[in-house]
Amino acid sequence: VPVSRIRNFCIIAHIDHGKSTLADRMLQMTETVAQRQMKEQFLDNMDLERERGITIKLQAARMNYRSKDGEDYVLNLIDTPGHVDFSYEVSRSLAACEGALLVVDSSQGVEAQTLANVYLALENNLEIIPILNKIDLPGSEPERVASEIEEVVGLDCSDIIKASAKAGIGVNEILESIVHLVPPPEDTVEQPLRALIFDSYYDPYRGVIVYFRIMDGTINTGDRIRLMASGKEYEIDELGVLSPDQIQVDSLHAGEVGYLSAAIKTVENARVGDTITLAEEQAKEPLPGYTEAKPMVFCGLFPTDSDQYEDLREALNRLKLNDAALSYEPETSSAMGFGFRCGFLGLLHMEIVQERLEREYDLDLITTAPSVIYRVTNLDGEVMEIDNPSLLPPPQEREKIEEPYIEVEMITPETYVGTLMELCQSRRGVFKDMRYFTLSRTALIYELPLAEVVTDFFDQLKSRSRGYASMEYQLIGYRANPLVKLDLLVNGDGVDALAMIVHRDKAYYVGRALTEKLKELIPRHQFKVPIQAAIGAKVIASEHIPALRKDVLAKCYGGDISRKKKLLQKQAKGKKRMKAIGTVDVPQEAFMAVLKLE
Ligand code: GDP
Ligand code: MG
Repeated sequence: VPVSRIRNFCIIAHIDHGKSTLADRMLQMTETVAQRQMKEQFLDNMDLERERGITIKLQAARMNYRSKDGEDYVLNLIDTPGHVDFSYEVSRSLAACEGALLVVDSSQGVEAQTLANVYLALENNLEIIPILNKIDLPGSEPERVASEIEEVVGLDCSDIIKASAKAGIGVNEILESIVHLVPPPEDTVEQPLRALIFDSYYDPYRGVIVYFRIMDGTINTGDRIRLMASGKEYEIDELGVLSPDQIQVDSLHAGEVGYLSAAIKTVENARVGDTITLAEEQAKEPLPGYTEAKPMVFCGLFPTDSDQYEDLREALNRLKLNDAALSYEPETSSAMGFGFRCGFLGLLHMEIVQERLEREYDLDLITTAPSVIYRVTNLDGEVMEIDNPSLLPPPQEREKIEEPYIEVEMITPETYVGTLMELCQSRRGVFKDMRYFTLSRTALIYELPLAEVVTDFFDQLKSRSRGYASMEYQLIGYRANPLVKLDLLVNGDGVDALAMIVHRDKAYYVGRALTEKLKELIPRHQFKVPIQAAIGAKVIASEHIPALRKDVLAKCYGGDISRKKKLLQKQAKGKKRMKAIGTVDVPQEAFMAVLKLE
């Protein structure tokens, strides 16, 4: 195909505004996917994604389209993930395109996530085509939402496309506008090869499959390639296009989108954002914008059964082949035994990894509460990064502790402004700005410690706004604060896995709330179990769990055996997610208690 007939585009949309439905509809209308093959939401093919209705990993699809002008075009759709944790991947997939469809639910309006991605698209100089989706809904307000897009995004919406991805309305118009509005790629086929990796995954048989967009030059099966950031060289075994199934081809040229395999052993060697060039004829400079996604949130993962430690290591090893952003290293906890300290891009990423470990690798895990990276300067000037609260040096050795801050932008109907401001204040937020976003909605900007957001901030935002508020954040740097380590003692023993770092002014409140919560969550034992919170040697809160009444089983004596059996079975089930700490059985929930304090 000549470059002039290629169009590379992506779809920007807030979750649930209809991105996947529209993508499916386009695959159908261009007969890329045969009718009978058409599964619901072809592009989101991970089970987890489907269940949660989110797009995590990028995929691509190549469609052949005959336009009304009689010419045949190749339309490459590059799907983008829809969650703040993965914004770096979004930015790389946008960089692989010349245009973006901005899909907005016409019964809702522009959301924080949409806006953040529009800014990324503008930074990448993409042509943006706005689309009002779901016009079939009775609550659809195309005029209001169109003027909202004009107002907040600054796009001309006088000829905005009104569509229903579900009912198939306006989809032809969308395909035509891609052909006519999205510019073709530049024709730089004569230059040395540069291809941008926008996604990759690990295949146990072929090694890493790399998805790329060729920016300059040509690539052929058998070529020896060099990955400019990792410095690794490989020979291409297989080259192809995604339609959306993989179809092999011999060569691809500037402007095209494809995949390759080259016996690459781990995605770390072919990271998203890296530039592929030829080993023999190297490009002078890599493509701009490469950064290594850095874990921001950490937690401990421990097998409930210590026999599963090696299995856990193996499982993490395998997940890591497919997830360059995941980090892990062995951790030994006096309370929990052997496990791993793992790093994630954010909370969603953490949840996904945990769920996969449990479902796909059949592991029973205890997860400790999420933590961020603290920067500690000791009195002798040494700077340490601490991702595990139990490792914080004592106060007499520290000069200062700094913690990461983020700027959060929330967009909410006006009614919830009060409650969201309250939420931010209670999380040590610093108010920055409040703007009327549209007539009915407000943008609230706060600076917040990341540690206060990685707990349950997002859930709180959603429940306080009945699901109507959305948020977006970015890291803005480190700030020093008077932080202290709060230790939790169960039955007189400090439990390192429960230790946390809190602001001095909140320590008493958190200590009290946590001990109360643990009292609720830890089951009764044959003996009385004291629960205490302490800063250094000073106990600041204490509770106790009364001893179990001796007659639980006694009641069954002399009679009904099956009832007794049932009772024992019930106890065994309850035990499944317990970790024995000393002589006390502590359930999984207790380690997450800090997320449930309000
Ligand atoms: P995504 O999160 O942006 O990928 O959104 P989906 O494509 O998964 O759509 C979210 C929900 O909206 C699904 O239940 C779709 O069936 C529904 N939906 C998508 N497009 C339309 C539309 O045009 N009209 C109506 N009524 N529902 C739609
Ligand atoms: Mg989707």
